[in-house]
Amino acid sequence: MPHFECTKCKYKLDKDKAPPLCPYCSEEGTMAPEKSAQDFLNESEL
Ligand SMILES: [Zn+2]
Repeated sequence: MPHFECTKCKYKLDKDKAPPLCPYCSEEGTMAPEKSAQDFLNESEL
């Protein structure tokens, strides 16, 4: 399952879709997909 993390307060959420606002700090548009270690590896190869 995808994980989303608030870029402001680092609150983590297990959801299929990112909510429009963070349920913890209520900031809008901060919920971003949390990157795994493999994602960082993939980006470094580009
Ligand atoms: Zn937040």
